[in-house]
Amino acid sequence: MSTIEADLIAPLTDAEVQRIREDFPILRTEVNGHPLAYLDSGATSQRPLAVLDAERAFATGMNSAVHRGAHTLAAEATELFEDARASVARFVGADDDEIVWTSNATEAVNLVAYALSNASLGRGGAASESLRLGPGDEIVTTEMEHHANLIPWQELAARTGATLKVIPLDDQGALRLDAAAELITARTRLVAFTHVSNVLGVINPVAELVGLARKAGALVLLDACQSAPHLPLDVKALDVDFAVLSGHKMLGPTGIGALYGRRALLEIMPPFLTGGSMITTVTTTTAEYLPPPQRFEAGTQRVSQAIALAAAVDYLTAVGMPRIAAHEAAFGARLVDGLSAIDGVRVLGAGIDLPRVGLASFDVDGIHSHDLGQYLDDLGIAVRVGHHCAQPLHRRLGITSSTRASTYLYTTDAEVDAVIAGVAGAIDFFR
Ligand code: PLP
Repeated sequence: MSTIEADLIAPLTDAEVQRIREDFPILRTEVNGHPLAYLDSGATSQRPLAVLDAERAFATGMNSAVHRGAHTLAAEATELFEDARASVARFVGADDDEIVWTSNATEAVNLVAYALSNASLGRGGAASESLRLGPGDEIVTTEMEHHANLIPWQELAARTGATLKVIPLDDQGALRLDAAAELITARTRLVAFTHVSNVLGVINPVAELVGLARKAGALVLLDACQSAPHLPLDVKALDVDFAVLSGHKMLGPTGIGALYGRRALLEIMPPFLTGGSMITTVTTTTAEYLPPPQRFEAGTQRVSQAIALAAAVDYLTAVGMPRIAAHEAAFGARLVDGLSAIDGVRVLGAGIDLPRVGLASFDVDGIHSHDLGQYLDDLGIAVRVGHHCAQPLHRRLGITSSTRASTYLYTTDAEVDAVIAGVAGAIDFFR
């Protein structure tokens, strides 16, 4: 969706947001004598009753292991588990068998990184072997990544002798596309970058980066952890080869994530974990593997979490992703403008000319982010403090930590204003 299209879509009305909030029991909590203002959805989002009910209904009505067992409960559980895969696939524009369940997004990135170094077992033939990286090959990522989309590539480079290159940021924190154009070359095998920065809240120019990767013949992995919960996402339209999702950031439970992988690639990728549930025939010396996605789902699966994640994406779809995006874009602007107007507050990436989601990180002159977080918590306001698993980005901007406020479909104008007022109050208090 372009910014122009986003501008044309009506954000959620106050009445709709109030109705949505009734579905989230935790939002009625009081913290330190104040109604909770939860502005930490970028770390983990809250769960609506539909998600809690889905998990409970599974546990109380059909708890059993999937893909095994001749009994009725196992058959029902398997059907729901595979329906859940189809729901998540639809949500991101993928085909059902292109979604692999993982424990979280971190595992999904590691699965791909492993495939690019382990395609050497001779089981996948020449096609599989062609995926393997070695000396002379290059992986390109960016200076703004969450550590989950950085360290697996450092390790992959160390294992294979490939070189890791990093697209630098400008002084505002934006990706330097001029540098990207030079760094992505015929030697590049994979370009891995985040759709939305978990620190800056900006939506990166995916089309430009994918264009550079395609010209170079490189694969693309998109970290969609901060975009899938907040924007309409279509992996086919974006033309990425892989995308990773984190269930607990999109109204789902913890312990579930997903990897989207282009079918032709999944088919030639070696498994990440091996063991039960991912095989056809096993002898004491050999094993034949199932086709994807089961090839990548070794061991007993996270069934109730997958079913609950499907309930989460159904909930988001029913509200409407374009409207959620419009609701949150307004919060992004409100946070950036409101916080930037306070003397001594520097909003990270405020000057970047890109659309943004409802997330802003900021540094307050003379106040450590942990002290600020504690002060806001006393007012019932939950924000994130620290480096947000993005140390290189913070280092580039000359700081070691920041405070982050992040919104979601259940956030109100009053909560966003409370953060802004709270930060102003903290400055008065600490100075
Ligand atoms: N990528 C981004 C942009 C994130 O914000 C996060 C979580 O904060 C992750 C990856 C890792 O997600 P998970 O911890 O669910 O694996």
